[in-house]
Amino acid sequence: DETAIYEMVSEEMIVNLYKPRKAFSHKGTYGHALLIAGNTGKMGAAVMCAKACLRSGVGLLTCAIPREEFAVLQTTTAEAMVINRKEIPDISKYDAIGIGPGLGTADEMITLLLNVVERYKQPMLLDADALNIIARHTDLLQLLPKHAIITPHPKEFDRLFGESSNDFERMQKAIDASVQYNIIIVLKGHYTLIANEGKGYFNTTGNAGMATGGSGDILSGIITALLAQQYSPFGAAILGVYVHGLAGDWCLEEQSYESLLPTDMVEKLGKAFKQIS
Ligand code: AMP
Ligand code: MG
Repeated sequence: DETAIYEMVSEEMIVNLYKPRKAFSHKGTYGHALLIAGNTGKMGAAVMCAKACLRSGVGLLTCAIPREEFAVLQTTTAEAMVINRKEIPDISKYDAIGIGPGLGTADEMITLLLNVVERYKQPMLLDADALNIIARHTDLLQLLPKHAIITPHPKEFDRLFGESSNDFERMQKAIDASVQYNIIIVLKGHYTLIANEGKGYFNTTGNAGMATGGSGDILSGIITALLAQQYSPFGAAILGVYVHGLAGDWCLEEQSYESLLPTDMVEKLGKAFKQIS
């Protein structure tokens, strides 16, 4: 139906998207992701993003962080490798890049983001400060590679595309921008909207307990992991948002809406993936 611009994400869609892990496989099968996240005072964003990425099936994970913060990542997240953000050797060797959580918006980060956006030709997710940088240098929007995924919350979205007077107007703008820039826009909230090629898909999982700083960083880690595993960008966005919400819903077995923390969601990703597999 050509006129149906909006659709709900169904469990059937998710189950069809999900790719079971193969018995004859190795870490190389599941991709090497690069996360460019975190900064002094905001290393938690990088840690949460990394942990979620690892719990979402990535084969190998490298985090590009400031040299002086190596210990934070290495003591909290044993499975992740770290490299100095000032000396990233060759971005083309990674299967997917996630950039933005806790990055800050200093000039050095602008240069880094520009570099990634111009040179990297594989699947890419941009969130948080990567979007805040783009909002101040909107010419970067045109440079985003085809099918790049951006994951703004409403405030980040408005910084990028201008103020909207209501949620519906914002959603329409997201759908239009998905066509104009040939990107996938994950407009986060209750009923997150995934805008792709002029259509909008509403997610139905998740709850208000997830409204705590750090929730979005978890989502970025999940989607980056799925991209590294060769899910299509649209598949990674839809599946990632769904699983993220499911993990949040599983948390309510033990937690209340008040007590739920993003790090609890990392621990529930196992239940979430089991539910869709
Ligand atoms: P961020 O603002 O970047 O930390 O992202 C917040 C994340 O939590 C997004 O994935 C939202 O969809 C999710 N979230 C926040 N509040 C709610 C809510 N009331 N219901 C469902 N999901 C929510
Ligand atoms: Mg965020």
